[in-house]
Amino acid sequence: MVANVSVFSSIAEFRGACDAVRGRGERLGFVPTMGALHAGHLRLVEVARRHAERVAVSIFVNPTQFGPNEDFAKYPRTLERDVQLLAGAGAELVLAPSAEEMYPAGETTRVRVGRLGEHFCGPFRPGHFEGVATVVTKLFSIAGPCTAVFGRKDFQQLKIIERLARDLLLPITVVGEPTVRDADGLALSSRNAYLSAEERSRALAIPRALAGAAARFQAGVRNAGALIEPVRAALAAAGLRADYADIADPEGLFPFALDATVGERALVAVAAFCGTTRLIDNLVLGEDQAPMVTA
Ligand code: AMP
Repeated sequence: MVANVSVFSSIAEFRGACDAVRGRGERLGFVPTMGALHAGHLRLVEVARRHAERVAVSIFVNPTQFGPNEDFAKYPRTLERDVQLLAGAGAELVLAPSAEEMYPAGETTRVRVGRLGEHFCGPFRPGHFEGVATVVTKLFSIAGPCTAVFGRKDFQQLKIIERLARDLLLPITVVGEPTVRDADGLALSSRNAYLSAEERSRALAIPRALAGAAARFQAGVRNAGALIEPVRAALAAAGLRADYADIADPEGLFPFALDATVGERALVAVAAFCGTTRLIDNLVLGEDQAPMVTA
């Protein structure tokens, strides 16, 4: 138990605490996470605090969003440290439920995502977004927040959840926050812990390639191929195996053909393996600040 933070493993007790917040007429902000928290997560908590008097955070490594050959078993689990960090960031309620309680025996219901899940990570992680949409719907129904804050680091996920809230008529404002990066430019991720020093320095090719695309866009380049092909080449040159490096309309998430002319905003999104670690990153050209990459 950390001062000012109540940690619940029981869904019913956590729900009761959230009810009590609303019962006092206070707004509840919510940040769903899988734990192994870093400064990116804590930024979301700080933003949630600006929208609400009380902030709840869930820490749940959600089995249904991992594929059979993915890192569910080895995903870092650091609950005690996470709770300390959350106390410092001003979250007061933490839900860390068991998989058995989140997915009661015999459950079969899933939330289907539709076309926002068709490109980018969708084809490479079958069932992933359905798992995300299902767990987020459950967490929203448990917490009942006014505002939920997500990171643009997972841009496709953010768009899917914005859409989910709208389509399911949920009375929740979904807020998306810019990616927090390490001093060297690498996007913070719980999975960065898997990288060796050598892999980590090669991984910097990702933010460097995004910054290159931003510079070309800034210089007036609007041809999709001219924006994205150097990104693909840079990842390959660093020995990163890309699942994809694509450029797309940032709302519909449909990739542009290489000969297309992009508009005033364009999403450049990357998923690439550095060794056995799959990293994702993105930038909305014309909107996001380009990463500053050192070294
Ligand atoms: P995760 O624990 O990886 O499922 O992420 C929980 C939330 O934190 C999601 O909304 C992510 O998009 C967000 N997040 C993860 N990394 C970052 C980052 N570097 N900057 C901002 N938000 C992030």
